[in-house]
Amino acid sequence: MLYLSTRGDPGRKHFCEILLEGLAPDGGLYLPQHYPQVDDATLTRWRSLKYADLAFEILSLYIDDIPAADLKAICHKTYTEEVFGTPQIVPLRRLDDGLLLEGLSNGPTLAFKDMAMQLLGNLFEYELARRGEELNILGATSGDTGSAAEYAMRGKKGVRVFMTSPHGRMSPFQQAQMFSLQDANIHNLAIQGVFDDCQDIVKAVSNDLAFKRKYKIGTVNSINWARLVAQVVYYFAGYLQATTSNGQKVSFTVPSGNFGNVCAGHVARMMGLPIDRLVVATNENDVLDEFFRTGVYRVRGSADTHETSSPSMDISKASNFERFVFDLLGRDGVRVKDLFGAQLSASGRFDLSGDALFKDAAAKYGFVSGRSTHADRLATIRATWERYGVMIDTHTADGVKVAREHLQPGVPMIVLETALPIKFAATIVEALGREPDRPTKFVGIEDLPKRVTVLDADVKAVQAYIVANAG
Ligand SMILES: *Cc1c(COP(=O)(O)O)cnc(C)c1O
Repeated sequence: MLYLSTRGDPGRKHFCEILLEGLAPDGGLYLPQHYPQVDDATLTRWRSLKYADLAFEILSLYIDDIPAADLKAICHKTYTEEVFGTPQIVPLRRLDDGLLLEGLSNGPTLAFKDMAMQLLGNLFEYELARRGEELNILGATSGDTGSAAEYAMRGKKGVRVFMTSPHGRMSPFQQAQMFSLQDANIHNLAIQGVFDDCQDIVKAVSNDLAFKRKYKIGTVNSINWARLVAQVVYYFAGYLQATTSNGQKVSFTVPSGNFGNVCAGHVARMMGLPIDRLVVATNENDVLDEFFRTGVYRVRGSADTHETSSPSMDISKASNFERFVFDLLGRDGVRVKDLFGAQLSASGRFDLSGDALFKDAAAKYGFVSGRSTHADRLATIRATWERYGVMIDTHTADGVKVAREHLQPGVPMIVLETALPIKFAATIVEALGREPDRPTKFVGIEDLPKRVTVLDADVKAVQAYIVANAG
């Protein structure tokens, strides 16, 4: 299997070559040259597999440069009951006949990003050891991504993490999750500023090419193909749990921000998994809902990007969206380069409403969408608690709200649960008048000793810290 760029670069690469990379050299995103097809007999055989073995089967279709025995060992080391809390790894819960919740947030940081990041940690350690190299991961976080990366990379050989976050602005629970890690290879840098300052610092350091090369700076952001392919697995696992025969179809609703999660659903559907609809649920930051309704993709400015109670979906543009548009436009890299390179930088928008291919988004690829607000979130959390005794977090609530608008008789709707309520306790209290339950392993984490360095919002200060600590 070879990988190509969405912007038409003629280069082709193997999986391990793109594993430690971000964007393709032409600024595009990597995608496989074709989607492997899963036939009826294979899907039937997969029905009896444990999650780790299913992951191995699916990853094997995309990775041809890691020996099978090694890849299998990596999958088994990653997807354990000990790390993910249940033998199913992604258990399904039935709310009512047509509506199910797939639990993706029982990993170490209680959000779905663990599903991919835990695998990435093991793949990085394996590949770096094989090459005899080291990597210093530099990131910016306002919560979920940074903690998932730290819990995935802690104690891994050859990898260090330097994670910037806005000083004093994360919730006490999120700060405790990250800052209580005592592993020597994890460095928390609390920046005197806001999240944008952290992102600007990461960009500036990454653009300093001499520094980047000398200190082997890398990232783990959501455009990484390995993260995406890891997420494909739980669409198969959800489908296989919800159905008894391959003649049945299901739909998925996905609380969406950067389009990474639902893009994995698109890949699963392209592989032949019987998915009817892929429902994209957004919050007030409705860039994606607007596109699927109108054909217009319009990046928001910072004044137009709302801080909401489902903060992990507060995006101004959807960084994985280019992958879907590439498929939608018949894999025309020249056109994608024009839309995402030229047109977006010139005007911050592009318009496909007049293009005959736009109707394929729904008709051929199954995409529909909807949006949810703070009031919807509160009402949905309350209704789900009262009717089923199930407590859902704010992001999952956006999903359940939009899923209800797209139910079809006879087609089970699986909503992906992307975080546990304890991470967003303030909104739960607002909705239900009570604190969410806290898993026992998190009792008292706010009282643990914290390991964090406070730095000015200054590129030089962060670089100096890396120089002193990059081994
Ligand atoms: C990251 C995140 C999302 C959004 O996922 P994308 O892949 O960016 O679309 C939704 N919910 C939670 C809890 C998240 O952490």
